[in-house]
Amino acid sequence: MKTIIEPFRIKAVEPIRMTTREERVKLIRDADYNLFALQSDDVLIDLLTDSGTGAMSAAQWAAIMRGDESYAGSPSFYRFEAAVKDLMPFKHVIPTHQGRAAEAILFSILGGQGRRIPNNTHFDTTRGNIEASGAEAVDLVIDEGRDPRSTHPFKGNMDLDRLRAFLADNHGSVPCVMMTITNNAGGGQPVSLENLRAVAAIAREFDKPFIIDGCRFAENAWFIREREPGQGERGIRAIVRDCFEVADAMTMSAKKDAFGNIGGWLALNDDDMAEAARATLIRTEGFPTYGGMAGRDLEALAQGLAEIVDEHYLRYRIRTNAYVVERLDALGVPVVRPAGGHAVFVDARAWLPHIDPLAYPGQALAVALYEVGGIRGCEIGTVMFGRHPAGTETPAAMDLVRLAFPRRTYTQSHADYLIEVFEEVARVKDGLPGYRITWEPALMRHFTCRFERVEAGAGQGA
Ligand SMILES: *Cc1c(COP(=O)(O)O)cnc(C)c1O
Repeated sequence: MKTIIEPFRIKAVEPIRMTTREERVKLIRDADYNLFALQSDDVLIDLLTDSGTGAMSAAQWAAIMRGDESYAGSPSFYRFEAAVKDLMPFKHVIPTHQGRAAEAILFSILGGQGRRIPNNTHFDTTRGNIEASGAEAVDLVIDEGRDPRSTHPFKGNMDLDRLRAFLADNHGSVPCVMMTITNNAGGGQPVSLENLRAVAAIAREFDKPFIIDGCRFAENAWFIREREPGQGERGIRAIVRDCFEVADAMTMSAKKDAFGNIGGWLALNDDDMAEAARATLIRTEGFPTYGGMAGRDLEALAQGLAEIVDEHYLRYRIRTNAYVVERLDALGVPVVRPAGGHAVFVDARAWLPHIDPLAYPGQALAVALYEVGGIRGCEIGTVMFGRHPAGTETPAAMDLVRLAFPRRTYTQSHADYLIEVFEEVARVKDGLPGYRITWEPALMRHFTCRFERVEAGAGQGA
C-alpha cells in the first residue's frame, strides 16, 4: 500500500478551540506579535516544539497508575532503569527531571574554565550549561550540515578531519567529545552509524570519553536504517544498541524520544564519575532512584521507550515531515532539505526577500502563519541569534521558521490544512510587514521581547 496511515487509533481527544482570522489578528497584536505570549488555547495547530507535547499511549496511562512513589528503591525506578539499559547498555542510569538537568550535572564534573568541548552542534541548553561552567562549546559539523540546499543523507555528521585537528591542538583542555543525534540545532538532521563509530574511535585514540546527546535516538536509528548502506534489513533496536555501545555516556531528554511529558537521564559507565554525578543529583534533583521524577513518570517512560522503537511508528513519524516538505517544495516555498526527523524548516529570508534581515523575515512569516491559519511555529533566526552581549545586532546566518511536530498528536488532515495556510500566505506574502523590537531583556530575548510592525519595502501589511 502506498498510503502510510497513522499507526494508532484515537481513544481520548482534546478539542481545538476554533478561532477566526479577525480574532487572531487582534490576539497576536495584543501579544505584541510575540507567539510565546499567546495563550495556547488561542492556537489551532501548535508546532512551537516537539518537546513534552506528544500524546501518551493507553499503555503509558495504565503504567502511570502503577507508579510507586516510594522515596527509595521504588520498583518503578527498576523498570525504568531496565528499559533504558535494554536500549542503551550503560552501567549507571541517573534519572533527572529534564535533559538540561543531566547536562548541568555532567558539566559540573567535566566543564570548567579553560576547557573546550566539541560536538557536531551543541543544542542551546547544552551550550548554556557548558558556558555557565566557564568552558567553551565548539561546533564541528560537516560543511553540508550548514548548507540548507545540500541533500547529504547525514547532514548531522561530525567533520572528522576538523575533530582530529581540534583534539591535536587542544589535547590538554578537552575533557570529552560529544555528538548530538539527531542534530537538533542543525535541523533535526541525522548522524550515520559509520560517523558515530569513527568519532568514537578518534575520541578513544585521544583518550577522551565519548558522550552522546541521545534525545532523538530512535528517529536517528530510522534514518540509519533507511539511508546507510548495509543497515536496511536490521531492526531498530539493534541499530540503537550499536549507536550507544561505542559511547561512554549519554544525556537524554525524555520529552523527545521516550514519549514523556517530562523527564530525562544521564547514563554512564565510569564508576567514579557516576559517584560524583549522584552526589550532585542528591543535592539538586533528588534521591538516585527517582532523581527529578515521580514514580509514575518513570513508569510512563519505561513504557514509552518500548513503544518508540516501533518501526511502523517511526515510518509514519518521518514520513509526516517528508510529506510536508514535498508539498511546500511543490508550492515553491523554500524549505531546508532533506526533511529532518522532528521538524520542517522554512527559509523565510529567501521567501520574503523584501524584508530586511534586521526587520525579521522569520518573525514576519511566523506571525502571518498564525493570523492566516492559527498555526504557531517558531522563529529561528535574527530574533533568536542576532543580538550580541555588547548590545549590537547583526543578521543571523539564516532566518528560518521551524514547524516542530509533537509525536502522535496531529493527523494527515492537520498537515493538509497547514499546506493550505501556506497557499494563502503565498498570495499575500509580498505585502507582509517587517518588525521592530520595542522592548527586550538582556538574555534570550526571543521568549519575551515585544514587537511592532514596520513597513518593509513592497507592502503595507497583510
Ligand atoms: C530538548 C533537548 C535538550 C534539553 O532537554 P530538556 O528536556 O528540554 O531540558 C538537549 N539536547 C537536545 C538535542 C534537545 O533536543
